[in-house]
Amino acid sequence: MKNAQISNITLVLSTRNPGKLREFEALLAPTGCIIRSLDAFPGAPDVDENCDTLDGNAAKKAEIIMEFTGYPTLADDTGLEVHALDGAPGVWSARWAGPECTPADNRKKLLSALQEIPDRRARFRTVIALATPDGTTFHEGVCDGQITIREQGNLGFGYDALFRPDGHEKTFAQMDAPVKNAISHRGRALQALLSALETNPELRSQIT
Ligand code: IMP
Repeated sequence: MKNAQISNITLVLSTRNPGKLREFEALLAPTGCIIRSLDAFPGAPDVDENCDTLDGNAAKKAEIIMEFTGYPTLADDTGLEVHALDGAPGVWSARWAGPECTPADNRKKLLSALQEIPDRRARFRTVIALATPDGTTFHEGVCDGQITIREQGNLGFGYDALFRPDGHEKTFAQMDAPVKNAISHRGRALQALLSALETNPELRSQIT
């Protein structure tokens, strides 16, 4: 983990998802910064993720919450981009199988969309937006892999049981959290953010 020199700095994470909070806390623990999720801010607005890009959704979630809390705020948006489906479901990954769908519905739809298709290449892409009063910056992480032909594993969440990262025998849903975090799209996007904070004093000064 990079030494981003942000020890004791408070950052808000624009999410109510406890799984995501755990991942961010684990990845940022070595920096010594303090992470607060939306649970620490009663009355924080719900932000509708209705943009058609990952950057747009991440910026919207970060900026609205930064305005509300007054703290520098991080937000992420992730899409699963399947090569044979021209990058779908992409930014629509969360509700791909319908407005009220479950993650299981999405996985079922993915398996059926790829039935008979030998090209199983896919990638997860995460964009993290960091909103401060001086502006918003974007930090991206990608993890390339393959869609498996059936679900494997019951750890993780979302599409994890169908995604095997390149160079690994197991799906994300068969990996313990620290193993997944070290290679995941979200982990890499956070590393990119920490590198930017380490090498860019101007960006660092916006949050300190
Ligand atoms: P969001 O960025 O949290 O809104 O995620 C968008 C969609 O991608 C949701 O369906 C998530 O379940 C899925 N997703 C995000 N990150 C991951 C991951 O690390 N593994 C599997 N699915 C994910």
